[in-house]
Amino acid sequence: MTKKIKIFDLSEQYNNKNLSDEIDKRFKDILHSGQYILGKNVKKLEKKFALILNAKYAVSCNSGTDALILSLRACSIGSGDEVITSPFTYFATAEAIALVGAKPIFADINPHTFNINYKKVESLITKKTKAIMPVHIFGQAAEMIPLKKLCRKYNLKLIEDCAQSFGAKIDKTYTGTLGDFGCFSFFPTKNLGCAGDGGIILTNNSRYANTLMKLRNHGGLTRNIHEYIGYNSRLDELQAAVLIAKLKIVNQLNRNRIKIASLYNKLITNKKIIKPYKKNNYFHVYNQYTIKVENRLKFINHLEKFSIPYGIYYPIPIYKQKAFSGFRYKYKLNNTERICKQCISIPIYPELSNDKVEYISNIINKY
Ligand SMILES: *Cc1c(COP(=O)(O)O)cnc(C)c1O
Repeated sequence: MTKKIKIFDLSEQYNNKNLSDEIDKRFKDILHSGQYILGKNVKKLEKKFALILNAKYAVSCNSGTDALILSLRACSIGSGDEVITSPFTYFATAEAIALVGAKPIFADINPHTFNINYKKVESLITKKTKAIMPVHIFGQAAEMIPLKKLCRKYNLKLIEDCAQSFGAKIDKTYTGTLGDFGCFSFFPTKNLGCAGDGGIILTNNSRYANTLMKLRNHGGLTRNIHEYIGYNSRLDELQAAVLIAKLKIVNQLNRNRIKIASLYNKLITNKKIIKPYKKNNYFHVYNQYTIKVENRLKFINHLEKFSIPYGIYYPIPIYKQKAFSGFRYKYKLNNTERICKQCISIPIYPELSNDKVEYISNIINKY
């Protein structure tokens, strides 16, 4: 092996000549055009994105966090409302709920899939509950069918956090099209990433799409006409150009991730390590390959001895974060707390070579 192993290596993607040629050409055109915001690249990206994932509308914005905020606002969720979500996710999921003035309510997770346990959701529903926000964590869909049923029964909105799940499916249906809104992030480390910040929202409802387009642009579509207090949350043309080029190869990138995951599944044989659990009929796109180990600190020391990088997603349940202390949560969600202590993610990215996967697996087997 020539190079040091990284947890992910973003620069390697740009070595793909077809990709870099297309991006370079589009950048040049954009810079010469003088149209940098809400131009033809953004329109084209939105059209393609909706088409590929089988949704009616796609509205781009500044980040995955904003995609969540705009969706909550589009269905008028705010002060006094409650939204049920997972405590085992990136901070931004619950942060978006709090930022619109609502209160995040947390349901414990399924310790095998790391996703929200739908069986824990119904008892949390109150008169204040307005939505459920499942996260398709690490690239595997949450159990959407029972969640959809609950939303129908209690008249709640279903807002999917798809930041880690571009291309993931249940049977033949893509995440992002199973609820009322599908919120994606284009942060560079996601399965479909741009060269900065970006996000997009899928919806099949024309009224929502229209409101989202206004909200991302200071609450209006026409100059000097503002219907809502909105946001400056537009995706720029350069990021849209990167994404148009990447949409052509993203399925291959996902297939590479899946190949790497199956190689790890085959090669890691250490009984002290619990490998990721994939549900039948779920198409998992492995934004992370997350394993469980009893004595994580000892395992980390072992990895560090051999310079194997790792990530801890996530070490602290969201309800224990200092930023949420104002809500005075009294949760003790056993599965979430145990998984926060046991989870550890090992390198996975589309360009990770087989010999590196073998090397990492061997080191893990030696533990
Ligand atoms: C990355 C991420 C976000 C936030 O996306 P940004 O584009 O960084 O704002 C939200 N939720 C989850 C689960 C994420 O992984």
